[in-house]
Amino acid sequence: MSVQFTAEQLAWRDLARDFFEREVRPVAAEIDARPDPQDCYPGELVEKLSKIGLRTLALPKQYGGINADAATKALLLMTMCEVEAGTAKIMSQCWKVSQVIVEAGTDLQQEKFLREFAADHRYTTSILMTEPNAGSDNILPYNAPGAGVALTAIPDGDCYVLNGTKCLNSLVSFSKLLLVYARTDPSRPVRQGTSTFLVPADLPGITYGEVHDKMGFRLYPNGETFFADVRVPAEYMIGGLNAGFDTFSQIFRGSLEIPATYLGICKAMYRIALDHAKGRIQGGKPIVEHQAVGTMLAEIAMAIDTLEGYLWDTAWHLQNDRQFDAKKTRFGKMFAADCFVKCMVLGLEVMGGAGIMRDNPMEKLIRDGLTFLHGDGTNSLTKLRVVPLLA
Ligand SMILES: Cc1cc2nc3c(=O)[nH]c(=O)nc-3n(C[C@H](O)[C@H](O)[C@H](O)COP(=O)(O)OP(=O)(O)OC[C@H]3O[C@@H](n4cnc5c(N)ncnc54)[C@H](O)[C@@H]3O)c2cc1C
Repeated sequence: MSVQFTAEQLAWRDLARDFFEREVRPVAAEIDARPDPQDCYPGELVEKLSKIGLRTLALPKQYGGINADAATKALLLMTMCEVEAGTAKIMSQCWKVSQVIVEAGTDLQQEKFLREFAADHRYTTSILMTEPNAGSDNILPYNAPGAGVALTAIPDGDCYVLNGTKCLNSLVSFSKLLLVYARTDPSRPVRQGTSTFLVPADLPGITYGEVHDKMGFRLYPNGETFFADVRVPAEYMIGGLNAGFDTFSQIFRGSLEIPATYLGICKAMYRIALDHAKGRIQGGKPIVEHQAVGTMLAEIAMAIDTLEGYLWDTAWHLQNDRQFDAKKTRFGKMFAADCFVKCMVLGLEVMGGAGIMRDNPMEKLIRDGLTFLHGDGTNSLTKLRVVPLLA
């Protein structure tokens, strides 16, 4: 099974590809190399991408979007990641959070936050779940007493007062809207005692700490946020009291973000390895003509083709199955990671000594790929989450 892309979807893909080739590729390496991670956020590119409609793609038509479905988002994300995954992921993050507000937001939340989001070309969004002592405990979770989200939200009049620390969250200090996971009932396990809030990033009491100095995805910075008596209107709670996790698990259950990201990165790695093999002469002929090299390239191509087939098959099931099998997106995430590792190892082997040089164009792709291997939780945990779903 596979989705059949419409002319409109392909036109969006071409628009994204042209923009990334023309505007992002020429500047990506320089931005990525800036020593201070604070300087790596590509704000100007975000603004330009917004002006051609990509940032707001997931919004309903009345807010200027096209209500992009999962297949459209995956197609564009894959295409953009072939050039620069960090900038691509900023767009994807905007689609993700706007989708949350569309699907779970109240009328008031939609009117306020979607309008603000649509009107400001620099408006991006963050999801704040992870904390210094709560990473995997939020993802699996074992629901151990006291484990998981510790940032508290305590009701006070018509507000909740937030106190605590978040870390590793993408785009914080650059975003204008934070989707914050907070404990509203510390006596219950994390899944049953956590709510989520839409929090304007400039509310009094919010301060930003370190921007983490990551090895990859440098154009998609992560950082720390501190909440000290931050008063958030109760009407900004999204998804119901103590229902934060359930709401978002349901919305994100069909996410194709990770496989689409890795498919783009792997395709770019393959192209570099193949071009090298066609140009490098050893034994009197291009190394691609040596069978041992040819079969390595064939293995890379096979892994990519399989990932792509699985991605579009999952997209088809998302659109057509009333009872979508959540295992499919988890398998897709795990297989995408395996596919990346295979492409990396074989690609480096094809390139020989040239592969190890800092100026090898594959170097940034490797750093980016390694950086997101545990996106949405590590693969060990993803496997553990699949086990209860096995028939
Ligand atoms: C590039 C990047 C982007 C990110 N973006 C965001 C974001 O936007 N928002 C956000 O909230 N977070 C984000 N994170 C955080 C990410 O979700 C966490 O890093 C991830 O959940 C793992 O948590 P941890 O780093 O605390 O690892 P730990 O929880 O310390 O895990 C360490 C190891 O122990 C294993 N482990 C832990 N608990 C168990 C268990 N119960 N059973 C078996 N094995 C276990 C894990 O699998 C892992 O191998 C991001 C991280 C990175 C690097």
